[in-house]
Amino acid sequence: MRSALLSCLTFCLLAALSGSAAGAAKERPREPFFPRAGNVGYDVANYKVDLTFRAGSGKVRALAMIGATATQRLSRFSLDLFGMRVTEVSVDGEPARFNRGRDKLKIEPRTPVRRGERFETLVRYEGRPETVTDPDGGHEGWIETNDGALAVGEPIGTASWLPCNNVPADKASFEIALTVPERLKAVSNGRLVGIGRDPGRRTYVWWERKPMSPYLATVDIGRGRLTKDRIAGLPSWTLIDPLLEKYSLPILAKLPEVIRFEEGIFGPYPFDSAGSIVDFAPGIGYALETQSRPIYLFVPDLTTVVHETAHQWFGNSVGLQRWPNIWLNEGFATWAQWYYAERHDGRSARQIFRALYKVPASNAELWEPPSGHPGTAKNLFATSTYVRGAMALEALRIKVGTKPMLKILRRWATEHRYASANIKQFVALAEEVSGDELGPLFQRWLYQRGKPLPRG
Ligand SMILES: [Zn+2]
Repeated sequence: MRSALLSCLTFCLLAALSGSAAGAAKERPREPFFPRAGNVGYDVANYKVDLTFRAGSGKVRALAMIGATATQRLSRFSLDLFGMRVTEVSVDGEPARFNRGRDKLKIEPRTPVRRGERFETLVRYEGRPETVTDPDGGHEGWIETNDGALAVGEPIGTASWLPCNNVPADKASFEIALTVPERLKAVSNGRLVGIGRDPGRRTYVWWERKPMSPYLATVDIGRGRLTKDRIAGLPSWTLIDPLLEKYSLPILAKLPEVIRFEEGIFGPYPFDSAGSIVDFAPGIGYALETQSRPIYLFVPDLTTVVHETAHQWFGNSVGLQRWPNIWLNEGFATWAQWYYAERHDGRSARQIFRALYKVPASNAELWEPPSGHPGTAKNLFATSTYVRGAMALEALRIKVGTKPMLKILRRWATEHRYASANIKQFVALAEEVSGDELGPLFQRWLYQRGKPLPRG
């Protein structure tokens, strides 16, 4: 999600970049919206990063270990990395030659990596990580706050603080150790597995063992109480900026019920931890579904919590093969808001659909671009991605009925759990479950320009 739109939406984000890798074999197709992002020739299995934050200067010093498997012979390869000064690179313990391209770290191992081989790349780097301005003008990447810093990475900002293969389809596990001044806390994704104590410093070690797209990694460093609870059968960690604590706590207290509700519809919660981050970043007012622990850069409201929690299934567990399929994230999380309201004495999804359908065709913001075909990176988080996108799902529900609709969503979450999927696969599943020919409906709602006709 990103941006704060109509009262019942608030959401995710974006930008553009990165490049190439090496060897000589076939190339993975380029990410259409960010042709410079991502690198061919390997699949990452694990990121381990040890990052020290210096509160006074805003600088970081870090050591990253990237464990990957070569999908082709690699005489050289690259990682996405914006800015930062790289001081050392080695591959499987041997020093490697490296240089920088725009937004890339290009590496030449002493010995080429054979196809199918596991290899580990060490990168030592330092500097003041950058904030990325996206094609839609939003900000992401590394953001300094009044009491620390935070990292939000949708769609490409993670490369501002971590060398990575910066495409959603290359998921990996993450081990993130954050060393900060003693007076601050540091939170990331997954479980807190330890706190190292040195004079004047603390090191918070977080592990997200389930597959995670780089854009879903987060860091939040700042003042506040880091609390641990057990909710909905899960260990849960929460860090709230003291400025926002009073008004955030009553809303976040509803997270267990939201998780239970969504488990009842979509199936078991896909990760082994939960929680929330609330921080204050001047000029940035969106929330993001960072894996297992969404981050809210404002006092969250309940419908936003419902939205970000729904993303744990749709977007995080069932990931995107390509950014133009963003409807599978935002349309679904927005529809989940509507359905939650319906089941909690609010307006029904059908009522919301009908009210929105009265909006005239001349309202380009609602109807353009079609949610299945955003066209450019600038439109990734357009209103239509969310609202017309949720209407597409409600139109499906009207066509097939509620029970088959819920079955489709549950099977979608189950059959693509931890994987990366595309819209075509969703249409095929919806047709299989319902037994209906749904091509015309999805054509109208996902791809046709302008306001969809009632039937076609
Ligand atoms: Zn969202």
